[in-house]
Amino acid sequence: MHSTKIWLSPPHMGGQEQKYIQEVIANNWVSSVGPAITLFEESLEHYLGTGSVVALNSGTSAIHLALIMLGVKAGDEVLCQSMTFSASANPILYQGAIPIFVDSELDTWNICPVALEHAIQDRIAKGKKPKAIIAVHLYGVPYQVTAVRALADQYCIPIIEDAAEALGSSYKGKLCGTFGDIGIFSFNGSKVITTSSGGAMVLPNSDWKEKAIFFATQSKDKAVHYEHSELGYNYRMSTICAAIGQGQMEVLTSHLAKRNAMHTFYEEVFENYPGITVYTVPNSDYCANYWLTTILINSALANGITPEIVRLGLEAQAIESRPLWKPMHLQPLFKNAPYYGNAISESLFEKGLCLPSGSNLTKEERDKIKAVLLDILN
Ligand SMILES: *Cc1c(COP(=O)(O)O)cnc(C)c1O
Repeated sequence: MHSTKIWLSPPHMGGQEQKYIQEVIANNWVSSVGPAITLFEESLEHYLGTGSVVALNSGTSAIHLALIMLGVKAGDEVLCQSMTFSASANPILYQGAIPIFVDSELDTWNICPVALEHAIQDRIAKGKKPKAIIAVHLYGVPYQVTAVRALADQYCIPIIEDAAEALGSSYKGKLCGTFGDIGIFSFNGSKVITTSSGGAMVLPNSDWKEKAIFFATQSKDKAVHYEHSELGYNYRMSTICAAIGQGQMEVLTSHLAKRNAMHTFYEEVFENYPGITVYTVPNSDYCANYWLTTILINSALANGITPEIVRLGLEAQAIESRPLWKPMHLQPLFKNAPYYGNAISESLFEKGLCLPSGSNLTKEERDKIKAVLLDILN
């Protein structure tokens, strides 16, 4: 990537990745099977304290396979947090299923338990019980895990936990990715760790893990020739990507500390600006990886400064920033999908901005960001 621009969240190599890639090549495991995949999965399992992780070629594939494994079929309804990246919702359409979007609440910006319950009851009243709930830990801040789980249990609807942005985040001391009936991660180039492109599923047990690998490798039945009785997918992670992942897992802890330091950095930058709040966990039950540090700007209190003024000011100095995820129920693609809520996500989208948060930002780059931000604000 071009080095003079300051990017929102660039890849950050740890140092051992090339060595692991070379091992893959030297042993001629350049494939979608090989020890590198097992080693990467084992290191994720060790980190998460679970036994059943499957490495895939993207987070999107992971969500798609999760829907398939939970039996979501054409015409089924799936509840999904509206404020998220489109990858959370697109796989619902891949299955021919119907997304039902649910608003956020203000504490975590994630799926609102009140709106979620209303949606569940209303969909049941209209004749169809939703088949799954897709809840997201946006920007690495955990959703209201206890409340969402209580609803899922009460109405017997499984949760797909979209932890794409939340590797290393935790709720009440337990790591994100382990709360859903199925959890998913993404390792695309912008995430806390990257495999260039990649994802993973966290499954309840080894039977489910075996089944996920079966679907991800073209659903080959047990036979010498290729025999297929179920629809298969080519979703497995490649060994080259897994080798990068092995190297990235070695630096995960230090990457997380640096992301956290970026959050603290912005809290200090904005501490004297009453109209600007840095998005922070609501209380000590929540621990965020702060994948991206985001701010809300109350223009009335901030001398008329808007997120777009800040974004353009940063862009003029070759610093990337980005609006928050535009809610899915406002997207042309999903304009016909039902939506439940009170326009909280709309107002967040209007007021918010994501700031450069990479774990490899230098002191000079941070100084530049601070100087440009203060210049825009004063
Ligand atoms: C990154 C991301 C995904 C998955 O993305 P891939 O690029 O397919 O790995 C899914 N959900 C959210 C919320 C994300 O940020």
